[in-house]
Amino acid sequence: MSSVKETVLEINLAHLTHNYTYLKSKVGTNVKILAVVKASGYGSDAAIIAKHLEKIGADYFAVAYTSEGIVLREAGVKIPILVLHPQPVNFHKLIEYQLEPSLYSSRTLKEFIKTATTLNQKKYPIHIKFNSGLNRIGFNKNDVAWVSKELYDTNAIQVISLLSHLAASEDHNEKTFTLQQINTFKKMAEQLSDTLGYMPILHQSNTSGILNYPEAHFDMVRTGIGLYGYGNEAKYDRKLKPVASLKSVISQIHELEPGASLGYNRGFKATDYTKTATIPIGHADGISRQYGNKKGFVTINNKRAYILGNVCMDMIMVDVTDINCKEGDEAVIFSANHNAAKVAEHSGTISYELLTAISPRVKRVVIGKN
Ligand SMILES: *Cc1c(COP(=O)(O)O)cnc(C)c1O
Repeated sequence: MSSVKETVLEINLAHLTHNYTYLKSKVGTNVKILAVVKASGYGSDAAIIAKHLEKIGADYFAVAYTSEGIVLREAGVKIPILVLHPQPVNFHKLIEYQLEPSLYSSRTLKEFIKTATTLNQKKYPIHIKFNSGLNRIGFNKNDVAWVSKELYDTNAIQVISLLSHLAASEDHNEKTFTLQQINTFKKMAEQLSDTLGYMPILHQSNTSGILNYPEAHFDMVRTGIGLYGYGNEAKYDRKLKPVASLKSVISQIHELEPGASLGYNRGFKATDYTKTATIPIGHADGISRQYGNKKGFVTINNKRAYILGNVCMDMIMVDVTDINCKEGDEAVIFSANHNAAKVAEHSGTISYELLTAISPRVKRVVIGKN
């Protein structure tokens, strides 16, 4: 493998295919796959990821916001796109770009029916979100009766699916709670479909739901983090392949004598001789200040080099006292071999946050096309 010459995020499409195939093998053959490509495809590039997944057979996409759906349509994505958390101010645009809203409250449902009616829509595809215990967004149990009636009474929209979201599908200690959520969702879906006269597509599982709760697969599953190569658990991480690799180079090496300090606010003070490497990546690239002061590390020539002092906007300085290295050598922040979940865990966060923080300033490079 050739080493990089500046900070780049490599996107490995062969790994994406591998993860898609693995996750698909975990659900029944008639269960649809909805690929979650919000937050720029978990920090990679939503259009590149979506175009590839569309080619290999994904059934549906989901994004969080309307603007993210527009990016996909403008990139030429044709399959249905669910907008998980839309706001009424964007409903006109949402319809203009043929995006499908998840409606989660009285306000969003009523506003959407109004907009669809004004625009002369008939049976515009929508999705109804139920709150089965996460208490984030979604209709509650005692809303189901009036929601059903509201839906039955309009011709402007048609319910394609009913969805809910699990709160702790990766946590084996919360199994009882999760089974309750599954049961609550089923009951709400049955009640609504009784009034509607048909059963829409049901979906409740995220990646960990796919891996840990076959009873929650229903007709479709929504996978995000798994597609990008992370399974929220070591035994699943081994089956998956990280899609994104964040790599940089050593710009310069400094040798600090005892008593010397390093970086802004003299965040690190050398007590012994210390060799440091400066890397061109900082908090403006998505390496937050929480990784400073040895909470985060990069890998240089297969050894961990901890971040010393404060993370700067465009740079970090790492400890290479015991590493044989020189200017121009590669520094890996995370990769298929040096997994983002481990870096994240070491600094008290999760893979999701580290991945999605990578800013647009970092150049994206596609590798492993297939
Ligand atoms: C982000 C999100 C997902 C994807 O979750 P993963 O854990 O990344 O698989 C699924 N459903 C909803 C509602 C989400 O917001």
